[in-house]
Parts: sequence; structure tokens; C-alpha cells
Amino acid sequence: NKRIAVLTSGGDAPGMNACIRAVVVASEGAGHTVIGFEHGFNGLLAANWRKLDSKKVHNIIQRGGTILRSARCKEFKQDVSAKLAAKHLDELAIDALLVIGGDGSFHGAKHLSNFWDGQVIGLPGTIDNDIYGTDATIGYYTAIETAMDSIDKVRDTADAFERIFLVEVMGRHAGFLGASAALSGAANYVILPELFTDKETTLKDIHQQLSIHRQRYGHESFIIVLTENLWPEGIAELGVQLEELTGGEVRPVILGHIQRGGSPVSQDRMLATLLGVNAVRCVEQNKTGIMVGMQNNKPVEIELSQTWENRKELGDTLTQTMVTMLNERHNWGMTT
Ligand code: ATP
Repeated sequence: NKRIAVLTSGGDAPGMNACIRAVVVASEGAGHTVIGFEHGFNGLLAANWRKLDSKKVHNIIQRGGTILRSARCKEFKQDVSAKLAAKHLDELAIDALLVIGGDGSFHGAKHLSNFWDGQVIGLPGTIDNDIYGTDATIGYYTAIETAMDSIDKVRDTADAFERIFLVEVMGRHAGFLGASAALSGAANYVILPELFTDKETTLKDIHQQLSIHRQRYGHESFIIVLTENLWPEGIAELGVQLEELTGGEVRPVILGHIQRGGSPVSQDRMLATLLGVNAVRCVEQNKTGIMVGMQNNKPVEIELSQTWENRKELGDTLTQTMVTMLNERHNWGMTT
């Protein structure tokens, strides 16, 4: 029987709790022991941990956030930190550490494995879906739902006042969330890192699309979805530039951390459960240095380093037809 440790790290994502629960329930069923470290890698450094059993993870599958808390831990990049973490893991006789988080957290897991002989396994948990090797990450589907719901609400007021609304969604440097939210919310325009060329071209294109929209529908409500960190001077400045260009009123809305919260949708709960159970199976098979993921509805395992050495493309998750629709904005037929 194994002694398994689990932690959640980086930005929290809906479904992390469902994943912790799956790890604990699967482990307990197989006779393994599970402990949870608190506050990401900080818990490893401070030896801040607690025992987890099925009673402790009862009634959490539906909860957002993470019962283990998450955190950034800058000092974990230092060798001395990884060595301290290794010491604490050895003192607790841990066989395997499961890290639920994004690619930064996987870097941390890999770094630890340079100084620790135990098994290290990553589980992709981030609303950004920017991890190579898995079609979806835990939290992504819920974040799409939240962003789509926000676009629906913004549309109501945009229509009432015939305004242009700019909706900024998360995604760091990837357009998965922006593309999915824009497609499912039928936004009129979308600005994604994968399609963005330069400010001038984009402003000109928006102006042209807005003119077509006004001619066709005779009103000015128009919704633009924008991925964070993309517009060089920020969303407020883009709003000002658009007001000058179009003469219409522009209102920026930053969805921000709302996108990280909420009860996970069924897809995230199922993904989190499958990945948690598969991670425990991988521990039993003495695997290490891997991330568990899902591709085409099948469980996969890939080298941790592959997750950041490769780049996931929009077409890996959206169908190629959808990516083409996004590319050919003029024909994407989603103006409502
Ligand atoms: P998200 O993308 O959802 O925010 P993430 O896991 O990518 O999640 P980061 O803040 O990039 O979030 O990383 C989380 C933590 O992983 C960092 O605070 C740090 O403790 C650890 N980490 C990141 N990069 C490294 C590295 N190169 N070496 C060691 N540890 C690292």
C-alpha cells in the first residue's frame, strides 16, 4: 500500500475539490493512505499537512475553490526549497506526490523530482486550458459557462442602451476561454492571442464589422470579447480608442476572478474524477514524471516536460470548423 500526498497549486479552478475527492476515494478503496498539503508548495516547505479520508472529502464535489487552499510560492524555484520539500516528504514516508495545477505547478513538480526519489504526478487544473497533452483542464468548462452567462447578461443591457460592450475574459496568453465564450455567447467580435496581429488592423476591422452590423440591424449594441493581457494599453484604453473611432459609447467589463469561482459543471466534475482515479492507478503502477490527461475521451499519460515544451493549439480543442469561423470573422454568422 502507498502513502500518497496531494496539493493544489497556482490559480484555483472549479473542480479541484472534485479531483481531491476522487484521489482520496480511489486511494482509500485500494488501501492507500492520503495526506493533503495546504497552500500549494508552501505546505511542502512548512510541513503543513493533514490526513484526508473519505469523510473529509464528503460533500465537496460541488464546491468551487479548493479545500487544501492554493497559493503561489516563488521560493520553490530555488534548489534549497525543493530539498527541504524532499526532506519533509521523506520524513512522512510519502511514496507519491500528486500536484493539481497549471504548467507553472508542473515546473515545480519537475523541479522537486530533481531532489526527491518519490513519484511525482501532475493533474491539469486551470481555467485557461493552456496545457498541452489534454483536451481539457479541470475548471475550463465551468469558466466557459460563467463567461457565456456574463455575455448573455451584458447583452441585455447592451441592447437596452444600444452600446458597445467590451468583455475581458481570462486566458493569460491563450484564447481557449475567449474563443469558447465568444462562440457560445454569440459575441459580435472576438480578439484572441492566436488571431491578433496589431492594434491598427484590429481597430479597422472592428470598425468595419460594426458598420456592417449597424447597416444590417440598425442598432448599435455590439459585444466584443477580448482575452486578458492582449491589448497593449489595456481594455480601458481600447474602449477610449473605440469611442473615438466609432462615435458610440463603449463600456468595458472585466470578468476577472468571477471566472474562477462557482460550482463546477458536470463536465469538470467528471474530468476531475477520471483524472483523480487515473492518477492513483498510475501511482500503483510506479509511474512518475507524468501528467494524466484525457485525449479523445481516452485517458493518457504524458511526460511533464512535454506539457510546457509543446503548445496546445486552438484547433486541438475547438473543431477546425470553429477555428475557421473565428478566423473568417466576416463569415462567422454569429451576429445576433
Ligand atoms: P495557473 O496557470 O492556473 O495560474 P500555474 O500552476 O501555472 O496555474 P503559476 O503561478 O505559474 O500557476 O505556478 C504555481 C507555482 O508553481 C508557483 O508559485 C511556484 O511555486 C511553482 N513554480 C512555477 N514555476 C516553477 C519553476 N520553474 N520551478 C519551481 N517551481 C515553480
